[in-house]
Amino acid sequence: MALIRKREEELEERETRKMIFRICSKCGERKIISKFTRDRRSKNGRTKVCKVCQSRESLRRYYEDIDRVKIGGGLYRESHKEERKIYNEKYRIDHKEELKKRAKKWYEQNKKAIKKRSLLYYNEHKEECRITREIWRLVNREKIKKYNKEYKKRKREVKGEQGIFKKGGLCV
Ligand SMILES: [Zn+2]
Repeated sequence: MALIRKREEELEERETRKMIFRICSKCGERKIISKFTRDRRSKNGRTKVCKVCQSRESLRRYYEDIDRVKIGGGLYRESHKEERKIYNEKYRIDHKEELKKRAKKWYEQNKKAIKKRSLLYYNEHKEECRITREIWRLVNREKIKKYNKEYKKRKREVKGEQGIFKKGGLCV
């Protein structure tokens, strides 16, 4: 069996050697036979497409695959968006305390930098900040009014208590 195969190969080799040149079916160029990959399935032992065209083709396929993977990944993410949202929501609820602690720790560690940054931002965006504040005030007008009312009331109460205390003090 091996012998027959060997014989076949020899014949093939001879056939191949006879044909020194070949025309590439892709680029149509006439090239020396060594520029074509060996292909035993082929009648004359070489591929119809030259090596250059072959590598170009495989490169194209490679990039196509990458695109497919990228697009596929995007599709996967898209179809699992809801699932991920629910998962993240659940995670936030389950780890509420832990996340809160972590955020607080982070804030404590970066307090100075955060303050510095917001001050810097404020100095550079004074006008924008003023407008934002104005808008906030307009939107929360009722809330502010209520807060101010309560604040004044509280202040009066404290003052009153202090007055009584003072009076009491004077009485003694
Ligand atoms: Zn070619």
